[in-house]
Amino acid sequence: MSETARGFEDLPCPKCMDDGTVTVYLSDMDTFNCTACEEEFTRGEIEAVVKQWGAVLAWIDTAPAYQSGGSNVIDLKTGTGS
Ligand SMILES: [Zn+2]
Repeated sequence: MSETARGFEDLPCPKCMDDGTVTVYLSDMDTFNCTACEEEFTRGEIEAVVKQWGAVLAWIDTAPAYQSGGSNVIDLKTGTGS
């Protein structure tokens, strides 16, 4: 039988990528601390990283698809893969 738990299991620290070691200061609910690498970071720092990577992932999602086993070379006249 599985137990239900609350929290964010195995959330990696953005500084050292260690899983499940991040705590948040209840005094401001904005500053995080990693017990593995002892680095501190803020919500704003996390939001900036998410924003930067979100732009990259959105751009990647615009890449054209191609058939498996086919070429990923794009025909510049038609904009399609061959
Ligand atoms: Zn860490």
